Amino acid sequence: MNTCLICKRPLGTAPELQDCGGDCLECMAEAGDPDAQVEMYRILQERRGGLMAETDKGLMSENDAAAATIAPGDESS
Ligand SMILES: [Zn+2]
Repeated sequence: MNTCLICKRPLGTAPELQDCGGDCLECMAEAGDPDAQVEMYRILQERRGGLMAETDKGLMSENDAAAATIAPGDESS
């Protein structure tokens, strides 16, 4: 199984760990990739039940993106 070059977690085992060409989506977002940050944000919204998916649209800030990348994941290992 492929692992992320940065965080070494197995790729493809969670939405935020999807393979982005060697790195996981979360690390791509941390590296500042805008597309990855949007995708991470969307994943976290879905995880929260999508309650604020509509009202939060267009309100994503740098803080939100940063919070998204350091949010505690369920890394059941
Ligand atoms: Zn990673």
